[in-house]
Amino acid sequence: MYHKLLFMSTPIGSLGSGLGGGVELTISNIAKEMLRRGHEVNIVAPQGSISSSLPIKEIPGELQIPAQNQSRSDPIFLHKNSVLANMWDYARQVQADYDLIVNFAYDWLPLYLTPFFNCAIAHLISMGSLTNAMDQIIEQVAIKFPGTIGVHSKTQAETFTFAERCICLLNGLDLSIYRFCAEPTQSLAWVGRIAPEKGLEDAVAAAKIMGIPLKIFGFKQDVSYWEKICQQYPNAPIEYVGFLPTIELQKELGQCQALLVTPRWIEAFGNVAIEALACGVPLIAYRRGGLTEIIEEGKTGFLVEPDSVQGLVEGIKRLDELDRQACRQKAETLYSLEAMGDRVEEWFQKILQK
Ligand code: UDP
Repeated sequence: MYHKLLFMSTPIGSLGSGLGGGVELTISNIAKEMLRRGHEVNIVAPQGSISSSLPIKEIPGELQIPAQNQSRSDPIFLHKNSVLANMWDYARQVQADYDLIVNFAYDWLPLYLTPFFNCAIAHLISMGSLTNAMDQIIEQVAIKFPGTIGVHSKTQAETFTFAERCICLLNGLDLSIYRFCAEPTQSLAWVGRIAPEKGLEDAVAAAKIMGIPLKIFGFKQDVSYWEKICQQYPNAPIEYVGFLPTIELQKELGQCQALLVTPRWIEAFGNVAIEALACGVPLIAYRRGGLTEIIEEGKTGFLVEPDSVQGLVEGIKRLDELDRQACRQKAETLYSLEAMGDRVEEWFQKILQK
C-alpha cells in the first residue's frame, strides 16, 4: 500500500549545508527510497535547503541551537520567529493531505505537539540522551504512542531509560554512489562535523605519531576548536579538504587506508562509518555508541579503548589484517537503501495499522 508521507527535516540547518550533520543524509536517503517504492514524499526544511531530486518546501525562520551544545538541565529553547515553530505550523495546516508525518528533528516541540495533531507522527531520534527535558518528552510520546519512536542503534536506545520502547532502524546508503576501492594510497581519513564531541584532535595526534597523512572532511561547526587543534599540532601531516558533496567525498574517502572515528560522546550511529565501509575502507574507532554495533572486530575494523591515542596507533599498525572486500560486503548486506527501506517501511506500516 502506498502512503502520503510528510518529512520534517532538522531545524538546525538547511539541507545540504552540513550543519545538520548525519540527519541530512539520513532524510534524503529515506526520502529517495520511499519515492522509489511508490510512496508520495514531501520534505519540509529550513529556507536555503537544496536537492536536485527531492521535493522540498522551504520554510523561513531562525535556526535552532544544536542540542549537543546544551547541558543536562537546560530548559527548552526557541527563538523569536523560530524555523522549527514555523515548520510545524505548516505541517499543522497541511496534515489532512498526509497519512504520516515523520519527524527528523532532535527537538522538544515536535514531540510535545504530537497529541495535538490529527495525523500520526513518527519520530526518528538521531542522538542519545542529552537533556532531561528531551528525555522526558520522548518517553511521554513513547508511552502514549507506542512504536512511534525510532532510533539508529541499540546502544543509542540504551542511553534512555525506555530503551525497550524504541524501534532500532540502523541506517542505509545509496550504494550505487559509493565505489569500492581495493587499492588505497598511504593516507588516513577523518570525516565529520568539526566540533568537540567528535574528538578530532586524537586522530590528528595518532596521524602525527605514525607519520601518515590524515585527510579531514567536514563542516567547521566550531572554528575556534579547529584553530586550537592546528595550534596544538603545528607539524602534523594533516590536510583539511573541506565539506564535500557525497559523490566527491566517497571518491576521496575510498582512497584512504582507514577511517578514524573518535567520538567523545555516545555516537548514536555514525553515518560516516557506513559510508567508509561502502567504499571498502575499514574503521579504527573508539568503542563507543553505534560504532560498537557497526564494526566487526578484526574484519571490518578495530574498536579501541575510548580516548586512547595509543589505541588508535596500535590499530593503524595492524591495518593489514583488515579486509576491504568484507567492508563493502557488510554495507551491501545491512546498509543498502533496500535493507534500510524494508526496516523503515515496516516501521511506518505498523504505526499506520494502529
Ligand atoms: N559529510 C559530508 N561531506 C563531508 C563530511 C561529512 O557530506 O565532507 C556528511 C557525512 O556524509 C555524514 C555527516 O556529514 O552523513 C556526518 O554525520 P554523522 O552521522 O557521522 O555525525 P553527526 O554529524 O550526525 O553527529
